[in-house]
This record gives sequence, structure tokens and C-alpha cells, in this order.
Amino acid sequence: MTRKFDGTRILIATHNAGKLEEMQQLFAPHGVEVVGAAELNLSEPEETETTFIGNARIKARAAVMATGLPALADDSGIEVEALDDAPGVYTADWAETPDGRDFVMAMTKTHNKLEEAGAAHPRSARFRATLVLAWPDGHEEVFDGRVNGTLVWPIRGAIGHGYDPMFQPDGYAITFAEMDPAEKNRVSHRADAFRKLIAGCFG
Ligand code: IMP
Repeated sequence: MTRKFDGTRILIATHNAGKLEEMQQLFAPHGVEVVGAAELNLSEPEETETTFIGNARIKARAAVMATGLPALADDSGIEVEALDDAPGVYTADWAETPDGRDFVMAMTKTHNKLEEAGAAHPRSARFRATLVLAWPDGHEEVFDGRVNGTLVWPIRGAIGHGYDPMFQPDGYAITFAEMDPAEKNRVSHRADAFRKLIAGCFG
């Protein structure tokens, strides 16, 4: 049985203002007050696990321990089938440079690896987002969201972030970076995980 959330406050274990805002909108109809990790000065734990669920759990548990509040954390990335699901949990790492993240570099690296491997077309990939909702008594619920698609080259579009310009979701002829953000927010991996969370714990 999925545990229902019956509290009035939920801690969102992220320092990302965009994600916090998204969560505030999501929870508003359910009468739940959303608190961000940054406003409580929580530190960001190291993401040392090798799975999305492992890293989301680290973030959710650290936030519960620090505050005593139920906490929600997410972890996401892109899995490329012909690269044995890399970069996966290391998606952001592939973009790291001494001067910050460079996703054009990360996407070029991904394309080059596919070329080296002689990967067939279409090149399947999926975005994944895993949500972990953790309670102070140790209980947790996990929701896995995904969206399937193919990788295109050259990259197309200027909206969005990360790997959006390289990812064309199934059923569309445009990439996430060419798509109206409201549309992307309906079909994305994060939307899928959120829908499951709301149906499971807030329905
Ligand atoms: P995190 O979950 O914030 O650690 O994000 C992991 C990485 O996955 C991000 O840095 C993005 O590059 C990538 N990523 C996750 N979701 C998306 C998306 O919707 N579009 C593009 N890239 C994404």
C-alpha cells in the first residue's frame, strides 16, 4: 500500500530555484506548504550512489535528518541505449569543466561515442527522473518517470537546458529544445514521475 501524505509541510531537498517553484505549483492544489532546502540553509550531500534512486534517497534522507520534516528529492538524467545507458546518473558530470557545466561539450562527447561505437539509427535514449518521498519514521515511497525518444545530430533548438537540444521524444519531429515549455512539461520524465507521486501519495 502506498502511504498517503497527511502532513501540512513538505521539504523539497533541492537548491534549484526552478525546481522549487515547479513543486510549489504542483502542491498548491493539495494544501501542502512547500519549504526549500536553501531557505533552511541545508548543505548539499554528495551524490555517491550509482543509481537515480540511490542518489535521490541520499538527498531525501539527509533533508529529513536535518529538519525532522518529510522530504522529497529527485535525481534525473539521460540514458543512451547504445552506450549501455550512459551517461545516466553521470549526466551532469559529463558536462563538468573547470569553468562550469558545458552541455554542448557533453552532447558532442555523446555523439562521438555513438559514432565510435558505430551505433545504428535511430539512436534510442530516455530521460529518467526518480522521486523519493521520505518520512521521519524511515518510510519512503519511490516514483520513476521516463520519456522515450531518439538522439539527433546536429543538435536543434535553443529552449530548455541540458540535453534538450539532442533529444527528440517519440511521437514528435522536434527536440525538447524546440518545444513549447508547457508542452515539454506535460510529456517529460519529470511530469511522469510527478503524476505518479500525486496519484500515489496525494490522491
Ligand atoms: P539533476 O537531477 O538535477 O542532478 O540533473 C541531472 C542532469 O540531467 C542535469 O544536469 C541535466 O543535464 C540532465 N537532465 C535532467 N532532466 C533534463 C531535461 O529535462 N532536459 C535536459 N537535460 C536534463
